[in-house]
Amino acid sequence: MDLLGVTQQLSDREHERLLEVRELVQNKIRKQSIEYWNREEFPAQLVKLLAQQGLAGLQLESCSHLLRGLIHAEIARADISLSSVVGIHNELVVGMLDELGSEEQRARWLPKLTAFDAFGAFALTEPEHGSDIAGGVQCSVKRDGDEYVISGAKRWIGMGTFSDFTLLWAKDAESGELGAYLVESDRPGFCATKIEHKIGLRIIQNADITFDQVRIPLANKLPGASCFSSANGLLMQSRAWVGWQAVGAMMATFDICKAYALERQQFGQPIASFQLIQQSLAQIAGNLSLCLSMMSDIARKQERGDLQMVDAAMAKSTATRLARESASLGRALMGGNGVVSDFEMGKVFCDVEILHTYEGTYEINSLIVGRALTGVSAFV
Ligand SMILES: Cc1cc2nc3c(=O)[nH]c(=O)nc-3n(C[C@H](O)[C@H](O)[C@H](O)COP(=O)(O)OP(=O)(O)OC[C@H]3O[C@@H](n4cnc5c(N)ncnc54)[C@H](O)[C@@H]3O)c2cc1C
Repeated sequence: MDLLGVTQQLSDREHERLLEVRELVQNKIRKQSIEYWNREEFPAQLVKLLAQQGLAGLQLESCSHLLRGLIHAEIARADISLSSVVGIHNELVVGMLDELGSEEQRARWLPKLTAFDAFGAFALTEPEHGSDIAGGVQCSVKRDGDEYVISGAKRWIGMGTFSDFTLLWAKDAESGELGAYLVESDRPGFCATKIEHKIGLRIIQNADITFDQVRIPLANKLPGASCFSSANGLLMQSRAWVGWQAVGAMMATFDICKAYALERQQFGQPIASFQLIQQSLAQIAGNLSLCLSMMSDIARKQERGDLQMVDAAMAKSTATRLARESASLGRALMGGNGVVSDFEMGKVFCDVEILHTYEGTYEINSLIVGRALTGVSAFV
């Protein structure tokens, strides 16, 4: 559903690439993901299919930002959890190692990561610090001879239960400076526990991780990550990615609801014939078109290299707000069947809640925009 023709901006070759991804995820991922979602299970087989399509290395693919964004949206249109797996992996693990890692770290991990033969995790949030993590990191690193010793805890870390390593943001115990460290999961003192019973993104395995005097060599520090502004650069790009995820969520909402409205009969006619149902569909289509256009402008800014945090924050907060509104309309449009994951809409409805909260909550992203508009910060 692209009423305003945004995909026409792609070259023929890029359009073909988008269609290949769409075919794969619609035919081999969309329906198949439901049972994994119900069971809160990571679908290793489905992830292999995504790797075969080159999606484990999407971040390093030479293509336009618009194509990359539309691919993220297409994956979310089929399953939002798997789009988070692909997005976090590309934006925050592959991207972070590529931009901030040493030559040796890149050579060791990127070939495996870009085939989904290895997984990494991005660990910033802590049990006591979420929105205020920029000034609140407690996880600490202390140099001891030719090693660092790490102590502390992280929460909500995607893929943390099975990843080969964690990219950990921690504070130097002596200088207080923030840095990033690659911590392999088999190091003594590393312990990851799955967070159970999430209501959304149930396929992603999120972990509580504790670091009890974990020792790593000095070479495991990422040379490019020496203060919070290096994390901010990554988070700016990944906030834009969540905007694309929200676009995909609205595409899914529209697809599912339109098909249901044409098929479901009440009062002897398809519910699509009722004016109020058409109004809901029109509102969902309007939200989707608005956000698709906004995200294509964001992609243009990324192409020029002048995306600012305020742009990314506005895109993330606006797209997730409208995805949430659309999911709510879509869920109601489907009546009782709208709350059953097998009918897909209930699954989208729950997943959208997470988009609203992670990568900086809706409120915090709105306050970043508010700060830019007024020159006054509502948070420290
Ligand atoms: C499924 C999932 C996956 C995640 N994956 C990762 C991951 O892979 N790696 C990682 O590091 N993190 C991850 N996160 C963490 C995520 O980024 C945080 O949940 C988010 O930043 C919010 O932090 P919090 O949950 O501690 O909420 P809090 O910061 O405690 O916020 C609670 C409420 O207070 C509001 N609030 C806080 N401060 C203010 C203020 N000054 N003004 C107005 N309102 C305010 C918030 O908006 C929110 O509504 C994930 C989270 C989830 C749920």
